Amino acid sequence: SPLLEAEGLHKAYGPTTALAGADLRVHAGEIVSVMGPSGSGKSTLLHCAAGLTRPDAGHVGYDGQELPGLNDVRRSALRRREFGFVFQFGQLVPELTALQNVALPLRLDGVSRRRAERRATGLMDRLGLADKARSRPGELSGGQQQRVAVARALVTGPRVIFADEPTGALDSVAGEQVMEMLTSAAREAGAAVVLVTHDARVAAYADRGIVVRDGRSTERMAAR
Ligand code: ADP
Ligand code: ADP
Repeated sequence: SPLLEAEGLHKAYGPTTALAGADLRVHAGEIVSVMGPSGSGKSTLLHCAAGLTRPDAGHVGYDGQELPGLNDVRRSALRRREFGFVFQFGQLVPELTALQNVALPLRLDGVSRRRAERRATGLMDRLGLADKARSRPGELSGGQQQRVAVARALVTGPRVIFADEPTGALDSVAGEQVMEMLTSAAREAGAAVVLVTHDARVAAYADRGIVVRDGRSTERMAAR
């Protein structure tokens, strides 16, 4: 059964209907792309599925738990430990080194600095970012910053990764590097990846896809 399953989501912002019956299912180890025109509800779908926004109606199940049924404290603890997030612009903390940025989610979860930085160093080594560990974000290219942001999303070993236009600001080489990192998180670590993108070359990394139009989702293709 899917690790994450959102069904029949509805969400309005005042007079604006963002979701009008959208579904999203993703299994462990699977990459699902979410495409569709601007303003169609993709980000709202991702935010509802991740427990960042409460839907007006519909159900979001994660690993046997109903997310809208959890209180804020439990929902944010679950997000912090089990979900990873990558957005279009990495949103690294400019004052921290790349290593400290990658270690940050562990620090926020109460892991000691030593252990957090050891884990972050190991991950950065594996991802080919070892020589950037001491750089600050402002000293890195856009592509390097985004790879650091992906490493930060992976450092807790998340079971679900939510990526909203993760390659949107990158050239195609940097975009491929980011997609290779997300693909290996799915293939090697068994993460479920939800990938919002408008780029067909990026969506081609997915196992399956949905299209969102006017707040409703449809399947884009059968399993490859
Ligand atoms: P997409 O990600 O496909 O571009 P969004 O989910 O961001 O679409 O937005 C869907 C619709 O909901 C749009 O009309 C958008 O303007 C509206 N919307 C999204 N978030 C908010 C918000 N926080 N407040 C008001 N309207 C919003
Ligand atoms: P806003 O309109 O202020 O963005 P939300 O719809 O995101 O509000 O959330 C309203 C309240 O519900 C907040 O207290 C928020 O923490 C909580 N909440 C948000 N998303 C969820 C969810 N998926 N399940 C349960 N509660 C949620």
